[in-house]
Amino acid sequence: MTTDLQGTSIIGYTRSQGTGSPSQATNPASGEKLATEFFAPTHDEVDRAIELAAAAFLEYSALSGGERAEFLRKIAEEIDGVVEDIVERGPLETGLPEPRMRGETARTTGQLRLFADLVEEGSWVDARIERGQPDREPLPKPDLRSMRRPLGPVAVFCASNFPLAFSVAGGDTAAALAAGCPVLVKAHHSHPGIAEIVGQAVVRAAKATNMPEGVFSLLYGSGRDIGMALVKDPVVQAVGFTGSRSGGLALMEAAANRPQPIPVYAEMSSVNPVVLLPEAVDSRGEEIAEGLFASLTLGAGQFCTNPGLVFLPEGHGDAFIEKLKERIETAPSAVMLNAGICQAFKDATSDFSDTPGVETVAHSFTKQVDHRAVPVVFSVKVRRFLEDADLHGEMFGPGTLIVRGSLEEIEATIPELEGQLTATVHGTEAELAANRGILGALERRAGRVIVNGFPTGVEVCHSMVHGGPFPSTSDGRSTSVGTMAIERFCRPVSWQGFPQDLLPAELRDDNPLGISRMVDGKRV
Ligand code: NAP
Repeated sequence: MTTDLQGTSIIGYTRSQGTGSPSQATNPASGEKLATEFFAPTHDEVDRAIELAAAAFLEYSALSGGERAEFLRKIAEEIDGVVEDIVERGPLETGLPEPRMRGETARTTGQLRLFADLVEEGSWVDARIERGQPDREPLPKPDLRSMRRPLGPVAVFCASNFPLAFSVAGGDTAAALAAGCPVLVKAHHSHPGIAEIVGQAVVRAAKATNMPEGVFSLLYGSGRDIGMALVKDPVVQAVGFTGSRSGGLALMEAAANRPQPIPVYAEMSSVNPVVLLPEAVDSRGEEIAEGLFASLTLGAGQFCTNPGLVFLPEGHGDAFIEKLKERIETAPSAVMLNAGICQAFKDATSDFSDTPGVETVAHSFTKQVDHRAVPVVFSVKVRRFLEDADLHGEMFGPGTLIVRGSLEEIEATIPELEGQLTATVHGTEAELAANRGILGALERRAGRVIVNGFPTGVEVCHSMVHGGPFPSTSDGRSTSVGTMAIERFCRPVSWQGFPQDLLPAELRDDNPLGISRMVDGKRV
């Protein structure tokens, strides 16, 4: 491995001395501790990282889009340079296979480059110009110009289930850095080694592109201690988080109770309902079962978009059920990310199977051992489902619940669901047209509505919405994937009556950056 793992936090351009008893990553497949001890920083070191971020914000937020783009591209290049280290350490820390590590690394560098292109092009700032009319009657109209500006230092919590794409240099970090915000990353205890490999790459990129010290820090230690210290510090202006509902709620509460409350963008739990309309499931039952099985078991079901709830109209879908049973019963077990997540899945599935009215439709014949999970499918009648809110919750892993009832009952149940990241419908063209009520109801509960597809596989692009009403996220007005994520780390500012040379370049009359703007109400 080319990266020398030191096991200490990165405080700007220096390393922490570390404190207290160290922790080690555990190989979830074997339960063995992995080499390298990781130490939490002292509170003085956390304060130092925050002070550096505050100072860096002044310089970093004033850089041009082109300069920030250069930094983001350099991070991507540095990560590409350590992909073999990631592939060596990653599977040991996460149980995820090598191809997933390579794919996720490519996604991570791809999204860094996408944000680089966005900020280099520059129109994302949503520049608006209303020229003044000093002679307007009865009152003169002031010259008013607005655009998005960065919020300030952002705390990012790494996700257990995306050690790269939602971790140290993942989507939240890329969006915040692109916006002009320094980032303080809290590593996830499951994959500290990958965090350090990527953290060192970010620091090399920051130095190579002359970024101010403090634009990035990486902190080990517990969420309740180090993570909370970040959330509560007055310098920090926003939080990005992916994880449990309880963790997200704790951060939201802490952020709301600060003297100056700040936004927490937490992605927490979603069961991603899939509605199967009668003709589609009768004509394509086996194909839908194959697709559902693949989506459900992808990454041992540890995706926030995992399809954990399926609505099946009563009297339809025999072939679908048969094929799904066949695939589930012969499915192998899969290593989960860590012992805690595996235990949580086993507890959730055992609660479902013990719930009156819930039947086990299919369970893998493979023995569920140690940190491995096996897929399972339950079913319940829609009326019973409506009575028991516990059945609406997330089983984080390869488990799904089929809810059976009439189409009318299914439509009436959708508004009772919690907020979702995604909602999917399978239907023929005629069925979709005839069931606009279901499509509309799903749109009101989810951030992304999918027709004749499956929810896993989240494209990183300009039009992706990976967000949704609570509790899928803490704030359904934004996305954590795709370029719209940059908006979460900005606030709009208006400049009134400013002379041209004191305005940001984006708002000057001669439009030196050549960006798309709204001028006097017209897009130009
Ligand atoms: P987690 O326990 O919420 O931990 C995520 C991060 O938040 C960790 O850094 C953790 O710190 C920190 N944290 C947790 N609770 C906190 C609190 N009360 N105060 C301050 N910081 C806190 O999530 P996880 O480890 O990723 O997985 C646990 C469960 O979360 C899973 O079984 C699953 O149910 C759910 N999950 C859902 C999704 C989704 O996208 N829907 C994704 C991942 C996980 P430590 O390092 O100290 O633990």
